[in-house]
Amino acid sequence: MRHYDLHSHSTRSDGLLAPAALVARAASRGVDVLALTDHDEVSGLAEAREAARAAGIELVCGTELSVSWEDLTIHIVGLAIDPDNTTLCAGLEAIRAGRATRARRIGDALAAAGIPDAYEGALSFVTSERLVSRTHFARFLVGAGHARDVKDVFKRYLVPGKPGHVAQAWATLGQAIDWIHAAGGRAVIAHPGRYKVGSGGMRRLLGEFRDAGGDAIEVLTSAHTPAQFTEFATKCRVFGLAASSGSDYHGPGESVVDLGDLPPLPAGVVPVWKDW
Ligand code: AMP
Ligand code: MN
Ligand code: MN
Ligand code: MN
Repeated sequence: MRHYDLHSHSTRSDGLLAPAALVARAASRGVDVLALTDHDEVSGLAEAREAARAAGIELVCGTELSVSWEDLTIHIVGLAIDPDNTTLCAGLEAIRAGRATRARRIGDALAAAGIPDAYEGALSFVTSERLVSRTHFARFLVGAGHARDVKDVFKRYLVPGKPGHVAQAWATLGQAIDWIHAAGGRAVIAHPGRYKVGSGGMRRLLGEFRDAGGDAIEVLTSAHTPAQFTEFATKCRVFGLAASSGSDYHGPGESVVDLGDLPPLPAGVVPVWKDW
């Protein structure tokens, strides 16, 4: 059986490894099929594809789109996309453009909370001139002694109700799914267990996702407990959606679940890769 890891990040967004190093690590850890899914970005895929060829593994072209739904930010992973598709590329560029202004506002919000120079500090952790994310602010806050680790940052800063939070209008759910489909890909709702919704909200979210043409739920991810693996496998059957699996690996020392570390998909779901 082939070993799939369909969610990972490189230095082209907020990962710690360059695309080629990420692919090499995946290969050395027994991953047969890896998707690189940088946030709102496809620029690492060419390097990743080259490295995958050299390592003898398969690279699935992917990206993870930032979406605003109701009052939440959710993530939609696009898999098996054509990274040259102009509709998708224009959409991603529009999302990335919003990140630059948001970063300045996050810096201002942290300054107002008594943490100066966070914008400049975050920029010193940025690894692509095309993309700045909250993760870079988180690494700055850890380095400056304001939090123990990145996980700790997201408990105390940068989230709704905490210092450094800035509301952001990302793409809509329908846009994200349409752009992914325009590029020939599959739309996967990423780490649904992370979204702060009740059971009614989750039903609404998955219903809207399915009705807008969404293809799969990320059942296995480092953000889910084993109980959530079962819960979301059931949701796949109830909503008629396929299932995906991805570590959401960001880098050594930061991600608890390493590349390829997830168990096989639960029985009774249709893998998103069934027809690949
Ligand atoms: P952004 O897309 O700029 O809003 O940044 C979101 C990123 O922050 C996610 O992709 C994660 O890498 C990181 N992040 C968000 N919440 C957490 C958390 N609780 N623990 C660790 N990283 C997180
Ligand atoms: Mn991330
Ligand atoms: Mn995500
Ligand atoms: Mn991710």
